[in-house]
Amino acid sequence: MNYIHKTVLDLKHSSPAQTEFYQAVEEVLDSLEPVLEGNSNYQRQAIIQRMVEPERQIMFRVPWVDDEGNIQVNKGYRVEFNSALGPYKGGLRFHPTVNASIIKFLGFEQIFKNALTGLPIGGGKGGANFDPKGRSDGEVMRFCQSFINELYRHIGPTTDVPAGDIGVGAREIGYMFGQYKRLTGRYEGVFTGKSLLWGGSLVRKEATGYGAVYFADYMLNARGHSLQGYRCLVSGAGNVAIYAMEKLYQMGAIPISCSDSSGTIYHATGVDLPLVKQLKQQQRTHLERYIEVHPDANYTPVADYPSDGHAVWRYSADAAFPCATQNELSKTDAESLLANGCHLVSEGANMPSTHEAVNLFIAAKIAYGPGKAANAGGVATSQLEMAQNASMQNWSFEKVDQQLQQIMKNIFVTASDTAKEFGQDGNLVTGANIAGFRRVADAMIEQGIV
Ligand code: NDP
Repeated sequence: MNYIHKTVLDLKHSSPAQTEFYQAVEEVLDSLEPVLEGNSNYQRQAIIQRMVEPERQIMFRVPWVDDEGNIQVNKGYRVEFNSALGPYKGGLRFHPTVNASIIKFLGFEQIFKNALTGLPIGGGKGGANFDPKGRSDGEVMRFCQSFINELYRHIGPTTDVPAGDIGVGAREIGYMFGQYKRLTGRYEGVFTGKSLLWGGSLVRKEATGYGAVYFADYMLNARGHSLQGYRCLVSGAGNVAIYAMEKLYQMGAIPISCSDSSGTIYHATGVDLPLVKQLKQQQRTHLERYIEVHPDANYTPVADYPSDGHAVWRYSADAAFPCATQNELSKTDAESLLANGCHLVSEGANMPSTHEAVNLFIAAKIAYGPGKAANAGGVATSQLEMAQNASMQNWSFEKVDQQLQQIMKNIFVTASDTAKEFGQDGNLVTGANIAGFRRVADAMIEQGIV
């Protein structure tokens, strides 16, 4: 039995029922075969077995009182996966689907993504099965305070620095930072994604979406094209999707769809971005309301989605930007995209395409940017926020944006060159996984058996 296969089997015994986590591990390990075969030291040092086991996992009860006086109980998580390259860094997700498997898959991906940025950050992730949707500001605040009452003892500016993710934006970061400060008496850069009023960085909120579009443009440039005039399908209508659409417009492309947990909007003449911002960021409501303003757009509720995938990927377009959640693009969706002429996929979300869908994109040799490379702009800009906090400076929008572009370009070049080095020209999955892995593995070896 080969080494990789055995590692995955062992994992299924030691960490049962963690489907998304196995999916992420298998995807990475499959592409590491050439590097493991070429360097027996990685095997001797048990690097793979050490990497798939988090350094520390914290699970805790989060009790809080709702507006009716009822006691609610949620489950909180922080997985401190790997600190070979720096303090644990990765977001917090508040969503009812959160469980140990989801947090571990996100944490595992984060190790390689953070390594790929070339910055000194380790990998971690956390969250809770709390749904902020429909909750008052007071309820969200009490939840965040209770969450931090436990988490504060595990985090710090040089140990573990959380940020936002699904369901965690500037409001939630504000409440969590406030409670951390109250408990510790310290005003320090323990979170990123903070408000610009008190230590946040310009471009952080735009960074993941902008970065996924810059990455797409670099992939196209390498093939002699640019995004100008591209018709683009986007999924999601949150932080990542909104700023991906904004950058697409700025680069002369046209986003023609977006989606949320209730359904999908398709607008052939181009999505009305100010309206989406108003519905999702200010009113915190469903996208269905979009067609009250634009009756010429199409709205497909989730109940009418195809049984084998997502309505958004069944439209014809040049490019696709999955920016909502994991496994939102199935094998059939990938077949439909390819049949309709899509030749670019840049992932703003984490693991949005299933393993089968990814294999189809690679076999078709389209420009495919996996999430751990294409959406790394968010965490990279978080690190720039940490650097500004540590040096007590505030950089201009232009300075941060330029650094973001440079980092996205470096990630593309690193993934692309590494793919070439291992005889898989154009396969950015292999390139990103091997490049990220080597940086972390070599640091782990130099730091001894810890
Ligand atoms: P948000 O909460 O801001 O937005 C998420 C969007 O996706 C919302 O429109 C939401 O719908 C929709 N969505 C979420 N879960 C589901 C689901 N299970 N089914 C259907 N729709 C869903 O999150 P972000 O934009 O921050 O994150 C989106 C993705 O990008 C995630 O995969 C995240 O891990 C990844 N990512 C985010 C980074 C960041 O900086 N924020 C950095 C790197 C990756 P609704 O509005 O109805 O809830």
